Amino acid sequence: MAQKTQEIALNPGLLARAEVQALTPYQSARRIVEAAGGRGDIWLNANESAEAVPYDIEQKILNRYPDAQPEEVVERYARYAGVGKDQILVTRGGDEGIDLLVRTFCVPGRDAIVQFPPTYGMYSVCAETTNVRVVNLTTSPENNWAPDTAKLAETLVADPTVQVVFACSPNNPTGGLLSPDTVEELVEITRGRAILVIDEAYIEFAPESTNIPQIAMAPHVVIIRTLSKAFALAGIRCGFLISSPEVIGMLKKVIAPYPIPTPVSDIAAQALSMGGISAMQRRVQGTIKRRADLAQKLLTIRGVEEVRDSSSNFVLVKFTDGPAVFKALWDSGIIVRDQGRQPTLTNCIRITVGTLEENAELIEKLREVLGER
Ligand SMILES: *Cc1c(COP(=O)(O)O)cnc(C)c1O
Repeated sequence: MAQKTQEIALNPGLLARAEVQALTPYQSARRIVEAAGGRGDIWLNANESAEAVPYDIEQKILNRYPDAQPEEVVERYARYAGVGKDQILVTRGGDEGIDLLVRTFCVPGRDAIVQFPPTYGMYSVCAETTNVRVVNLTTSPENNWAPDTAKLAETLVADPTVQVVFACSPNNPTGGLLSPDTVEELVEITRGRAILVIDEAYIEFAPESTNIPQIAMAPHVVIIRTLSKAFALAGIRCGFLISSPEVIGMLKKVIAPYPIPTPVSDIAAQALSMGGISAMQRRVQGTIKRRADLAQKLLTIRGVEEVRDSSSNFVLVKFTDGPAVFKALWDSGIIVRDQGRQPTLTNCIRITVGTLEENAELIEKLREVLGER
């Protein structure tokens, strides 16, 4: 006992919950580079927008707490998404939305979530932080990483503790969309049984494939959105959950009292004005063009085995020797995202579409290291 007291006196961090002590935190793009002392001249690893949009903060006085939910932002996002104002929750990035869903619907130490790896890392990080189990239904490239819906149905029968199912469309890091048939099956399998989350962080790059029409008929479906990608605002941390008023009402009980700082809602409202939205749509068209060009040039390089079709602002590339390519790029200051440790993604690297100049430098470096086909 005395020894334990002494250990804790030296390191009060040992008072943390056991699952937190065991946790590996989310390996954010920045964290990885900082930890390894990388210099990073060209950042193609976090799916940020290559183009920056300047903003002025219009609200100059900040002595009052903000609204619990910034009215103008809610109104504008509701109009943009085509849903009611009571169907929207503004969050500190899509990531806070993921965390809120886990904390609202899962009992720590008892319940579980389902995810379909390879997919976005934050679903499991949020679950593990909350001591919620993660059930992995791994997908495979042969059928374009489509979730196995029969397997999900079995899992929901066999394991009554599954409360939330996370699917991502377009999926990070594979870049593909859930097919309408798959979505319909997911919606019906989870109806009356669990919350179905569809993460649409990249949907502006394939806007016709949004699953928002689903939620009119399915109150248990939640859509995640963000301003971090197509809207070029990763720096303000602003995201959205869209669902039925019943689900949004529950989430509102759990979210912090004043989650959205006034300067954030100020800029978000500007980005969601008519002009802000059409500027975003023009940038998206440019990104899609540069993505096609990048994919085509990547295929001329020796050691590039495959460039997967993408409905997002990144491409997933399979190399003959992924780790060697990652290191060569890293050493020359071009930072991309290694996906080699995700199931089915050995030798795969995720590359964010950069500016014309950034993409050209990337291709030049790859030609130098690997040569041309
Ligand atoms: C980037 C991203 C998010 C959310 O990012 P925020 O910056 O927290 O809004 C959510 N899901 C996926 C799949 C993402 O790639």
